[in-house]
Amino acid sequence: MDNKFPGKDISSDDQLNKFPLSSSKKKNIVNINKHISFGGKYFPIISGPNTLENRDLIFKYCEFLEKQNLKLVRAAIYKPLTFPYRSKKYFEMGDKGIKILEDIKKNFDVLLVTEIMESSKIEILNNLVDIFQIGARNMQNFPLVCSVAKTKKPIILKRHFGCSIRDLFGAAEYILLKKNKKVILCERGVSAPHTHRSTSRFILDIQSIPAIKEYSCLPVIVDPSHACFWYKWVSDLALASFAVGSHGLILEVHPDPRNSAVDPLQALGFEDFKKLIKKIKNISKIFNRIIV
Ligand code: PEP
Ligand code: MN
Repeated sequence: MDNKFPGKDISSDDQLNKFPLSSSKKKNIVNINKHISFGGKYFPIISGPNTLENRDLIFKYCEFLEKQNLKLVRAAIYKPLTFPYRSKKYFEMGDKGIKILEDIKKNFDVLLVTEIMESSKIEILNNLVDIFQIGARNMQNFPLVCSVAKTKKPIILKRHFGCSIRDLFGAAEYILLKKNKKVILCERGVSAPHTHRSTSRFILDIQSIPAIKEYSCLPVIVDPSHACFWYKWVSDLALASFAVGSHGLILEVHPDPRNSAVDPLQALGFEDFKKLIKKIKNISKIFNRIIV
């Protein structure tokens, strides 16, 4: 046994040759507009229902968001749903949602974050959305990742629940290599043997946040909703994420959470969300961060 030069799983060779751009020493701040950026003094909170569901619901949500002085809304019309059957209670909007995205843009001063699963949807979504999300399941779908990178739009790249941080940096490198520096990494929980039970579907890898910050120049945000799959824990995990150094949050919030079309157990209601924002604003003074 030789413990003289203990190494972590990310080696200096990895940093030099496999993902030199992701591990640049120069911190990469991703600007969304004049008042919002990831990785600097701001702490953006993205929130909204799991999926768009219908015009009334998302309009109600945007009205609520404007009252909270927040701008970033989750507005997914394409969803990687785990099971293939659809019903009135379990669906995604699909192409029908494009018109609703247009209407949101016309009626509200919000920024749209939307998931993209197929390159064929890039053209239609590109004019409408402000930030693309590549979901956990597509993290290593490199043709998709590269096509979305070419839009030069900001991209939230979610870590797959079975992938290492090293793999995540590899996927981010594909985007950076396409000369798109607007990459925001997202920790959203990983699979572990004891998470395959009803209490927690995934487990929030909280230490991945300082780890990502140690190795990478890229900002990293946390999605505690998908990590724990249980609304009662979301606020505490969001606060923990803030404290551990996350550069932002993406949260599921719904006007009638237990009746959400997708993942009804993980969404916060308006009141719980407002309480959480208040707490984050209080601690943000200590950390010198501006909540947006
Ligand atoms: C989502 O954000 O709606 C989602 C499907 O998340 P993930 O890709 O992390 O499962
Ligand atoms: Mn989901």
